[in-house]
Amino acid sequence: MAHLKLHIPGPIEVSNKTFEAFRTPMIGHRSQDFKNLYDSIMPNLQALLFTNRLVYLGTASAWGIMEGALRNLVSKGVLNCMKGAFSDKWHDVSKRCGKYAESLQVEWGSPILPEQIDERLATGKFDAITMVHNETSTGVMSPLYEIAKLKEKYPDVMFIVDSVTSMTGVKIEFDKLGIDLLLAGSQKAFALPPGFSIFTASQAALERAASINDRGYYFDLIEFQKNAEKSMTPSTPSIGHIYALKSKLEDFMEEGLSQRFDRHANLSKMTRDWATKQGFTIFPEAGYESKTLTCVNNGAKPGGREIEVAKLQGLMKERGILIDGGYGKLKGKTFRLSSMGDETQETMESLYALLDESLEQL
Ligand SMILES: *Cc1c(COP(=O)(O)O)cnc(C)c1O
Repeated sequence: MAHLKLHIPGPIEVSNKTFEAFRTPMIGHRSQDFKNLYDSIMPNLQALLFTNRLVYLGTASAWGIMEGALRNLVSKGVLNCMKGAFSDKWHDVSKRCGKYAESLQVEWGSPILPEQIDERLATGKFDAITMVHNETSTGVMSPLYEIAKLKEKYPDVMFIVDSVTSMTGVKIEFDKLGIDLLLAGSQKAFALPPGFSIFTASQAALERAASINDRGYYFDLIEFQKNAEKSMTPSTPSIGHIYALKSKLEDFMEEGLSQRFDRHANLSKMTRDWATKQGFTIFPEAGYESKTLTCVNNGAKPGGREIEVAKLQGLMKERGILIDGGYGKLKGKTFRLSSMGDETQETMESLYALLDESLEQL
């Protein structure tokens, strides 16, 4: 069907093959067929996350799991590592959940660094931290492996990690990292329709959850674990999403995970090179650029070319493509191009060609 191709950083383009899988006829969620379906995807989910833990399926967008993580894992207090719209919002959500929360705020465009977290955890005020691996609003990827090393020093602190725009695009080894909860939503690098989440939790996270009485029901980790042990979900899941996920996981394995990670790294590099060639600078601090999307600077920081972003978006729309014009306070001062999911060198090159034409017309 003719539609605007999505090059915004989520929701992203969903393939016809995925939609075909999505519309597989329904089955009962307490049936053997459902258990077989869940069992059939578990090995691929575990391979994707490099884990032996059970991987849970949540029927909600990522924020459901993000709120659930706070309700399940924070007792004493949470340190919210903030570097952009999504990570900043988690602080607000922590307070709305009635948790004692403090912020570790860095400037938008900068990463969160382990020393900064260490200094704050040393106060002993926190038994959990939240962090966003790939901050979609700024295009900054924080050094997850270096941050996760802190877990050795602070074993009782729950490390809650949003990998919404990095899971499947970047290698994230859950067990090796030793973190406690890792989550992603379906409409970003998975290239599935929105409304679904994939997540997993450590044994320590389950123990923490068991000690918290008011953790709620819909996102209760203990319920997810108990049900996953029987190849089920606590409540009726979006079964269409699970069929689509099965199809997607098969694609990932066929491509090869390391090839998939390399492809994402290459496409983001190509996008940065395109932007630089066009006279722009890149918004994120050098060395911490996202591998799934590119946040192009357009006056948010000094230096580089500046254009009227809304006009560029309009010209791209005429060419059948939706690009993002900057998130929140970066609106008009940056623009973002997604290269995650099913994009290839060819599809990205045709995007650049259309961007070149549109820029000519400004
Ligand atoms: C998109 C996104 C979310 C939120 O996802 P919803 O689907 O709106 O719940 C959270 N974190 C990051 C990093 C995101 O990119």
